[in-house]
Amino acid sequence: MYEGIVQDLIDELGRLPGIGPKSAQRIGFHLLQADPADVRRLADVLIEVKAKVKFCRVCFNVSSDVECRVCRDPRRDGSVICVVEEYKDVVAIERTREFRGRYHVLGGAISPIDGVGPEQLRIRELMTRLADGAVTEVILATDPNLEGEATATYLTRLLKPLGLRVTRLASGLPVGGDLEYADEVTLGRAFAGRRAAE
Ligand SMILES: [Zn+2]
Repeated sequence: MYEGIVQDLIDELGRLPGIGPKSAQRIGFHLLQADPADVRRLADVLIEVKAKVKFCRVCFNVSSDVECRVCRDPRRDGSVICVVEEYKDVVAIERTREFRGRYHVLGGAISPIDGVGPEQLRIRELMTRLADGAVTEVILATDPNLEGEATATYLTRLLKPLGLRVTRLASGLPVGGDLEYADEVTLGRAFAGRRAAE
């Protein structure tokens, strides 16, 4: 559509989660018109964050090592995986001290309006983790909003035929918000009262 490097920029932006073709174009043109110093600062921070922050190769949680603290901890229950959208949800759930299993960070939620489909999320990686049958329960702890619900429904359909227990957090979380905004007590209760996914 556009020439060479401009199209490359739009293509790269469009590969980001939550950025559809229209947003990619809008951000691309914004960058073309922006002050070179501003763009340089953005480029620098992108390179720096990649150099300094790593993600766990197992669960995609933020990690200072190849595997994160939770995955390395032998006291954590490897038979239960809690699926969350973002690593900040891991932080919120860890704060409740209610969960002793492991995590899987999807990297977002299904959102057709933003151009995010299942293939943009780490669902294939989740299926690979479940392949050996060691996991017996998957807790779907996506955000209590439209995108989170769509993601949980999609995963329920995908996971149930595998014959493992698929659960959702109990209701009571503030609807429409992010998991991380729920207070510890509410989130802890939602965890303890989890129920089979429909
Ligand atoms: Zn991990």
